[in-house]
Amino acid sequence: MTVPMLSLVVPMLNEAEMVPILKERLTEVMGEIGETYEIICVNDGSRDGTADLLDAAHEADGRIKVLHLSRNFGKEIALTAGIDHAQGAAVIAIDADLQDPPELISEFVRLWRAGHEVVYGQRNERRTDTALKRMTANAFYRVMGRLARVDIPAGAGDFRLMDRKVVDALGQLRERNRFMKGLFSWVGYRQIAVPYRRPRRAAGRTKFSYWGLWNFALDGITSQSTVPLRVAGYLGFVVAVISVIYASFLVIRTLVYGSDVPGYASTIVAVLFLGGVQLIVLGVIGEYLARIFEETKQRPLYLVQASRGFDAAVSASTPKTRT
Ligand code: UDP
Ligand code: MG
Repeated sequence: MTVPMLSLVVPMLNEAEMVPILKERLTEVMGEIGETYEIICVNDGSRDGTADLLDAAHEADGRIKVLHLSRNFGKEIALTAGIDHAQGAAVIAIDADLQDPPELISEFVRLWRAGHEVVYGQRNERRTDTALKRMTANAFYRVMGRLARVDIPAGAGDFRLMDRKVVDALGQLRERNRFMKGLFSWVGYRQIAVPYRRPRRAAGRTKFSYWGLWNFALDGITSQSTVPLRVAGYLGFVVAVISVIYASFLVIRTLVYGSDVPGYASTIVAVLFLGGVQLIVLGVIGEYLARIFEETKQRPLYLVQASRGFDAAVSASTPKTRT
């Protein structure tokens, strides 16, 4: 089997409506670019007809390869699985719903040829997202920018082209908590942004709820930054200082005015306040502890139930970096 120049990686969860549209658009765009390519569709435990449609697509066109994960592992892991199995000299991650316009790929490839090792799409506006989603996304990028040591460019998503060097570097990061945007910027290399307008989903529905996004944001922050732990420490320090001041005030008042038995309110307030602060701090520590627990289990990131179009050697469930 010859190694293709470009590998497209498409994570898919219940995207049956998109398979035919996507197949047509991607084949068209890739045809225009004129490089050899493979399209790796990662079926992330879909429960609709996605699996069968993908198998049929592979039968019709061998350049479309399929990885069926054993269950739903989430987009970040699906993307990882696809990238692990990609053989191209450059790998392009793209959503299945055409919110990442395939037309941009030729520009990505041009910039890659010009020497950039990472070319990422940057959404310069999100008019097609709801106001609430825009607001929460902005807040998230701001908090992330402050807390994380690596800069995550605002508006950058997973839509990007990566040189083989970058893909191999990424392949060495096997942490379970895979906040891909964080990992992408952690590896560094010469990166360049291509601004674009994010269109509406071509068909189907978004797979992320607000609760899901909130948890995703927590994962993102705790995987990239230990600042919350430090904040917890400062919080404890501030509370301790306040307690000392208040205690001195009580002692002096008792010395000057003698002891007064009533003091129920202040006692209860102090107890509740300290109790609350302790629980918050414990919660923060717990978040990190949970992540350490996840990592120490050393489970494979994903399991491949079946694959179409890969050599046997390549389709092991967690390949290490290939050189
Ligand atoms: N996706 C996936 N596994 C999941 C959730 C989503 O593979 O558990 C895929 C989905 O099929 C799509 C991409 O990730 O190709 C982005 O998902 P979606 O469009 O629902 O996210 P949004 O654009 O609304 O943020
Ligand atoms: Mg989408």
